[in-house]
Amino acid sequence: MSAEIISGTEIAAQIRTELKEEIIGLKEHGVTPGLGVILVGEDPASRSYVTAKEKACAEIGIYSDDNRLPADTSQEDLIALIEKMNEDARIDGILVQLPLPSHINEQEVLMYVSDKDVDGFHPTNMGKMLLGQETVLPCTPNGVVEMLVRKNVKIEGAHVVVVGRSNIVGKPVANMLLQKNKRGNATVTLCHTRTKDLKAMTLQADILIAAAGMPEMITADMIKEGAVVIDVGVNRVDDASKKRGYRLVGDVAFDEVAAKASMITPVPGGVGPMTITMLLMSTVKLASRRLPGS
Ligand code: NDP
Repeated sequence: MSAEIISGTEIAAQIRTELKEEIIGLKEHGVTPGLGVILVGEDPASRSYVTAKEKACAEIGIYSDDNRLPADTSQEDLIALIEKMNEDARIDGILVQLPLPSHINEQEVLMYVSDKDVDGFHPTNMGKMLLGQETVLPCTPNGVVEMLVRKNVKIEGAHVVVVGRSNIVGKPVANMLLQKNKRGNATVTLCHTRTKDLKAMTLQADILIAAAGMPEMITADMIKEGAVVIDVGVNRVDDASKKRGYRLVGDVAFDEVAAKASMITPVPGGVGPMTITMLLMSTVKLASRRLPGS
């Protein structure tokens, strides 16, 4: 079998076109969705993520309030900015780019982003997700589920194996897929570094979601023939043939796994473009609260 490639780039473009239309509709009611973005420090990866997010907002008509703060910004000043954004009627969602510098307590800061929590990381939103209540969902897991749904992958009854239990990817995606709703109803196994026999688990997966941050750790012998493989991992590996000295690879050994899977996401061009798109989608969702009658 040679797997069908699930192009996150294509699905994301489709969703962005839909969102553009939705935003035109919102603007007719005087609502321009707004995203407040806060970046603290000079981390190059964070800077490029934030730039990509701001560009994506501009492209589809979302107002973005961009704040780039020096690395030595105090926790108090950061919280003051978040509170100002909480009061700002133009801003529907607030994004604090992580990681924050080590002198800032991330969990404490994120507690201040509650009603406008576009990332879905606030304990209230995480709790609502766990309880199956309507809420803003974390972007990357939501992007993974959206891809599966749009590619008509049968989630109900499938055995989903997730490798990785982080709060931003593994735990939420596992929870979303086991919810008793039309985007869930899977049987989910969540694996991590203390899982005794990882291969015995992954071999059972109808849908395998790799989110471990370990370059090419999922090899062909670890997957069942015909499995759907979603690679969340983004890892830099040294590559002298590249101008920048490295290339990006996922957690899945793409070529050998693609020969055995039925569908697979590439890296780059898979989950990555979906993440930003789900951020846009959540901003629009939050903005729709401003519509008359909602
Ligand atoms: P974390 O480092 O926070 O979590 C990694 C998880 O994988 C942990 O639960 C860890 O287990 C588990 N793990 C690591 N190695 C193994 C192993 N050998 N066997 C089994 N489990 C293992 O990572 P994130 O969740 O933040 O990110 C995961 C990957 O996804 C990274 O490559 C990251 O860059 C990428 N990513 C991509 C995004 C995108 O938009 N495409 C967005 C977010 C992340 P334990 O808990 O026991 O330590």
